[in-house]
Amino acid sequence: MRTPLIAGNWKMNASLAANATLLAGLLGDEAGVSAELAVCVPAPYLAQVQSVLGGSAVRWGAQDASAHERGAFTGEVSAEMLLDFGCTYVIVGHSERRSYHAESDELVAQKAQRALASGMTPIVCVGETLEERERGATDVVVARQLAPVLDAMGTQLASMVIAYEPVWAIGTGKTATPEMAQQVHARLRAMLAERNTESAQQVRILYGGSMKPDNAKDLLAMPDIDGGLIGGASLNVSDFLSIAHAA
Ligand code: PEP
Repeated sequence: MRTPLIAGNWKMNASLAANATLLAGLLGDEAGVSAELAVCVPAPYLAQVQSVLGGSAVRWGAQDASAHERGAFTGEVSAEMLLDFGCTYVIVGHSERRSYHAESDELVAQKAQRALASGMTPIVCVGETLEERERGATDVVVARQLAPVLDAMGTQLASMVIAYEPVWAIGTGKTATPEMAQQVHARLRAMLAERNTESAQQVRILYGGSMKPDNAKDLLAMPDIDGGLIGGASLNVSDFLSIAHAA
């Protein structure tokens, strides 16, 4: 039995004042939620989030981590540093990083491995562009993206979370239908099962891409959709919690 995970990705949207309101709202109403809740926030706000959410059931994490352990990598933040601030999760390979920062599948795998080695759970994002979907390449693309990550995870496969995020659905208001998403999730789980059948049943595979209160229930009802990675709607407490209640 996989506990659903509803993880917010605040992206580069935050301020001390806005976070205080959002976090207070979350803590005010998370009691009735049976899914696990998490927020992935910009690194400068981790101390604030740790101090507000520490001791609650809501977990937190970051949106990226360096593939390196430490050293002369100006501007980078290591997985160990994130752990110092109590992060449970770190998103790696978000399509915005893959496209704006030219992150390769191999780099994403290294980041996932580093996160895991530091004691965090990587949320590894995969997903196809519209052009790739239209030419029928979705399965090939997600398999190519995931393969080096699975190699890097080795026997610790069960310690990761995967997020299927079709690029054409992120922040666009377009959502994969539950059936479309389920088909890719099942394919991803089959890939996991080729490595280890037991772990494949334990890994949570989240859907991300314009998940909102009005479409969450149908998406989350699918057998291989184990939660959501929520961008825009995670900035609105009532939308985020309403998605969480649907899980
Ligand atoms: C995301 O960026 O991970 C995401 C799913 O964004 P949105 O929910 O806004 O589409």
